[in-house]
Amino acid sequence: MSNTTLNDVNSHTDLDDLIHPSRFSSLPKDFFAPVSPTPLSKPYLIGINQDAVTEFNLSDSIHDHPDFIARFTGNSVSKKAIPIASVYSGHQFGVWAGQLGDGRALLLGDALNQERQTVEIQLKGAGITPFSRMGDGRAVLRSSIREFLCSEAMFGLGIPTSRALCITGSDQYVMRETPETSAVVARYAPSFIRFGSFEHWYYNQRPDELKALADFTLTHYYPELQGLANPYKALLTQVTEKTAKLIAQWQSVGFMHGVMNTDNMSILGLTIDYGPFGFMEAYDMNHICNHSDHQGRYAYHMQPTIGHWNCHALAQALLPLIGSIEETQEALNSYKVSYETQWELLLQQKFGLSEHQDHDLDLFESFFQLLQANHADMTLSFRYLSKINNQMSANDEALRDLFIDRNALNEWLKLYRDRLMSENSDEKKRHQIMQARNPKYILRNYLAQIAIEKAQKKDFSEIAKLLAILKNPYLEQDEYDDYAQLPPDWAKNLEVSCSS
Ligand code: AMP
Ligand code: MG
Repeated sequence: MSNTTLNDVNSHTDLDDLIHPSRFSSLPKDFFAPVSPTPLSKPYLIGINQDAVTEFNLSDSIHDHPDFIARFTGNSVSKKAIPIASVYSGHQFGVWAGQLGDGRALLLGDALNQERQTVEIQLKGAGITPFSRMGDGRAVLRSSIREFLCSEAMFGLGIPTSRALCITGSDQYVMRETPETSAVVARYAPSFIRFGSFEHWYYNQRPDELKALADFTLTHYYPELQGLANPYKALLTQVTEKTAKLIAQWQSVGFMHGVMNTDNMSILGLTIDYGPFGFMEAYDMNHICNHSDHQGRYAYHMQPTIGHWNCHALAQALLPLIGSIEETQEALNSYKVSYETQWELLLQQKFGLSEHQDHDLDLFESFFQLLQANHADMTLSFRYLSKINNQMSANDEALRDLFIDRNALNEWLKLYRDRLMSENSDEKKRHQIMQARNPKYILRNYLAQIAIEKAQKKDFSEIAKLLAILKNPYLEQDEYDDYAQLPPDWAKNLEVSCSS
């Protein structure tokens, strides 16, 4: 029997009270266009994130509410919401692309979470907006499932990200390489402001709007910087540091975004706009997860450099506000230090070392070289490394099985164990630290693919199952061992591109 009292029920947020006009819509009118979502025929629920339901203080059974599916597909809009699409520009693949904007996302409005923080709720795939250009404003089922799952997987990994509330779908077709069915993801984040939002006003020579956007960002997201001598410089420094840290976190779990254009870079240092992303499996630092990225601009090993490049593009846009090239450069310089500090910290934890010694970075680097030479699975290699004993034991076998050149691994393990001994490493404590940093479960492409193919046949159970597993990627969850295995052979042919 449920323990829910009448009071509990009453304290839940009513669906109609969830969404309020966004703070963003208080900006001058050129920042956005009011839009109405375009209905999809006979929408149905594909997946729901109960954590988000709780976070928004909605009732656990809110998905049974007669308006729920319509609201989050965009077939109806609650009375209080003022949906808008925002304008931004950006550099795509290193080239200035001019105006882009929310072409298939729209901001429904703001909502309060349980901590009474304001977050923006967007629908992605709810139809055309004034910024759709040649697009249809839709998102296909497969890419929506991937965004829904990956944003929660990243959250589970402890990496800053936009979140997902639910995914709905329809049998209504949209044209891609072949006809595909549509879906809508309801996603949320404190803000979806991008580097490209600033570039837009800078390149259009609209200094007043540029300042208005920077002041808006400071007021709502970086209030502690407002009183400083040069708040715009401080803003650039903070964003640069957050971006550097974010990318160090991506690298540490082998996450590749795939389209690190400046319009996909969050001013809050969140992972946003999931498209042709991927997680490293057989380690190859040159791996390109986006099939459309022919030059490998966004290859795994390029991400830290591109993160810096993107901050540079933001710096260019903020230069008129900061006032001097020297100060702007100084803010940008924080990238390298922040990245290296964060990366080294994460590595120290991934390798389970409690103190820093002179040659640690060489030791780490030689392990990555082994991964590279053997194309060993990155996630499993670190996870199995997290379980070996301080002395050689049968526990080494699982790790060794991932490597072709076992002698080389043995030699490395000897150095590693010497290093552990040099700090009198406590085995149990080390295992704990390492297993809290080296996930067992990541969203492997083939796992997403299985969920997608089942969903295309109207079986959504795999989405719910994956969501549950990926929420706790560092826990053993023995019953799901199958989800932590090497990808099957057929997965080698999976290709993910920008077309979504
Ligand atoms: P993305 O590569 O998904 O970040 O998208 C780049 C730009 O293209 C953004 O302005 C998107 O809103 C827009 N866009 C992508 N796909 C579509 C689509 N199907 N319809 C309209 N606009 C789109
Ligand atoms: Mg985008």
